[in-house]
Amino acid sequence: MTDQGTEPDSTDVVVVGGGPSGCAAAVFTARYGLETVVFDRGNAAFRRCAYLKNYLGFPAGIGVDTFTALMHEHVAEVGADYVADMVVSVERLGDDEGTDARESEPDAFDADTRRFVVHTQDSRRVEADYVVAAAWYDGDYLRGLDDDDAMFEEHDHHGEVHEHFDSDYADDDGRTPVEGLYVAAPSGDRNAQVGIAAGQGGHVARCLIEDRRRERGFPGDLAAHYDWLRADTEFQGEWGDRDRWREWFESEVPADADLDDERLAELRESYIDRAFDTRRTDHEVETAELRGIRRLVEVIGTERVLDALSDEVLADYLDGRELGGVEQ
Ligand SMILES: Cc1cc2nc3c(=O)[nH]c(=O)nc-3n(C[C@H](O)[C@H](O)[C@H](O)COP(=O)(O)OP(=O)(O)OC[C@H]3O[C@@H](n4cnc5c(N)ncnc54)[C@H](O)[C@@H]3O)c2cc1C
Repeated sequence: MTDQGTEPDSTDVVVVGGGPSGCAAAVFTARYGLETVVFDRGNAAFRRCAYLKNYLGFPAGIGVDTFTALMHEHVAEVGADYVADMVVSVERLGDDEGTDARESEPDAFDADTRRFVVHTQDSRRVEADYVVAAAWYDGDYLRGLDDDDAMFEEHDHHGEVHEHFDSDYADDDGRTPVEGLYVAAPSGDRNAQVGIAAGQGGHVARCLIEDRRRERGFPGDLAAHYDWLRADTEFQGEWGDRDRWREWFESEVPADADLDDERLAELRESYIDRAFDTRRTDHEVETAELRGIRRLVEVIGTERVLDALSDEVLADYLDGRELGGVEQ
């Protein structure tokens, strides 16, 4: 554990930036089951927005502070750690230990060379398998992971030459030439609006998950991950039978997949376990909906919700309850 808090000093994923891109990425990686830490401090585009009018699902818009509280609560709800601290550098494990340590223990470093070490302003040091960059205004902390020429571009501002992280450094899916490093932001127009930035964060996280699954052996399209919940009815008939899923899984394995039978069976069963875990009964859906609304009200604040009700709406509601009582 670190001195500063309860967050781990080793994790699967570090997300740099707790704005819309980063929080969306964290929700996907944590829900998949990857231990995820989000660091968040520094220049933020979202905090410059006066009021959010164009995020789908909020008909009259939503305040920036309220939306931020909801995003951060969501990150916590899925089990990721949100840490208000700024990432100042990311290095390969071994690079931060110095050459002497690497020379005296080469085996230890060989085994771990693809891990990252993340350093923060408040002197935290966290090791991670994956780093998702999600800080729209900032890419300096990534210096040294690849050639500066590849990662940064120069631009002229009123006669002065500045260097910026190149928003085309990663591909559209956020993948970079550095294994394990993904970029959700800065990625140009894909961060231009809150809704699009959140979508990009989720998309990049899905690509990370797909790459991880492929590394673990899932062949072809079976590596893709869908964070879906399915109604009970989807499992009626033949699809309630694991053998039907087994048959389908086998049909999806590409002919050139290089896997022994035992490993393929393990992957198949874990795929089917995960599919069946997405099954929700009507009762579970109702319970989830009630809890979802409660959590919304808790985050927004009960008093703010009641204050927002006009006298007429409140009176109608209370009348309705009274009438309901009489009829019963
Ligand atoms: C003036 C203005 C008004 C806007 N109005 C709207 C609008 O009305 N509607 C709309 O859809 N979009 C609007 N936008 C765009 C919107 O703000 C962005 O699309 C969105 O914020 C991008 O999200 P992001 O997560 O990629 O980046 P950001 O919102 O910038 O989030 C990045 C986060 O990373 C953190 N961070 C930065 N560096 C580090 C570091 N080194 N370590 C750790 N954390 C770090 C920051 O503190 C921040 O919280 C507006 C933008 C501006 C500038």
